Amino acid sequence: ATTSPATFLEDEDKQSFIDTVDTFIFDCDGVIWKGDSIIEGVPEALDMLKAKGKKMIFVTNNSTKSRAGYLSKFHGLGLTNVKAEEIFSSSFAAAAYFQSINMKKKVYVVGEVGIQEELDLAGIAHIGGPEDGDKKIDLSPGQFMEHDPDVGAVCVGFDRNINYYKIQYATLCLRENPGCVFVGTNLDAVTHLTSAQEWAGNGSMVGAIKGSSGKEPVVVGKPAPFMLDYICEQNNIKPEQICMVGDRLDTDIQFGIDGGLRTLLVLSGVTTEETLKSPENAIQPDYYVSAMPDMLSVFK
Ligand code: PLP
Ligand code: CA
Repeated sequence: ATTSPATFLEDEDKQSFIDTVDTFIFDCDGVIWKGDSIIEGVPEALDMLKAKGKKMIFVTNNSTKSRAGYLSKFHGLGLTNVKAEEIFSSSFAAAAYFQSINMKKKVYVVGEVGIQEELDLAGIAHIGGPEDGDKKIDLSPGQFMEHDPDVGAVCVGFDRNINYYKIQYATLCLRENPGCVFVGTNLDAVTHLTSAQEWAGNGSMVGAIKGSSGKEPVVVGKPAPFMLDYICEQNNIKPEQICMVGDRLDTDIQFGIDGGLRTLLVLSGVTTEETLKSPENAIQPDYYVSAMPDMLSVFK
């Protein structure tokens, strides 16, 4: 990675670029798929990389599904060669983080089923989650809200049913349980639930609880280094062998730059060429292409 402006990856440079990368880390939304649709040419491109002996890893900041949930998504989109161990979601990363700190107490979950499933697999007790989506708070005079003193962590992921009950519960745990850990799966400001507009992302949910608790979250999603460190250690690979391929500058490309990876931006997601080249943008990938399969176009 470099601070000089990104270079468009020209055909004559593709062979040497591919040759010098052993492992590709692909962001998912905007690179592999858009919402529920596969991006054109991706299955063939992944097959070609596999045939060239490249290692492939898939990383997503979206915590709403577990690794198993993403495996079904990959297979449903026809990417049947992808294996569970190659998928790293911020939900998986949160559970891995709790294991790494040997969390023995319960986790209060603000988030969806992806986090719950990963905590179950990691053997970590949890409460909250979608079950608290319908809870209302009685705010009549003198009301007191109980909370579980055995909660040792609050984990906040994207939650389409976040409500005041959950925010208050998480706040009580963080303010009143000694040593209560605060984990945010990711801080994406906006997300693209539909292509028609931008929608408030998990940054808004983590931000709500940061605001009320006064605590700083530990973030496990991109651009934080937790997932990269985990991936390198588990797969016995080094940053200089890896290229990060992503559509977003402040998460994917920053993750690659901070981790010492080569970086390739694709314009098939949220970043336009105009944004990339704007004087306001300081985050420059090494290379960019219009969409992931284009990096292989010379091999067809
Ligand atoms: N968080 C949510 C809730 C999302 O819907 C998305 C994209 O769909 C993301 C995060 C970003 O995902 P990725 O890191 O795969 O681009
Ligand atoms: Ca993305």
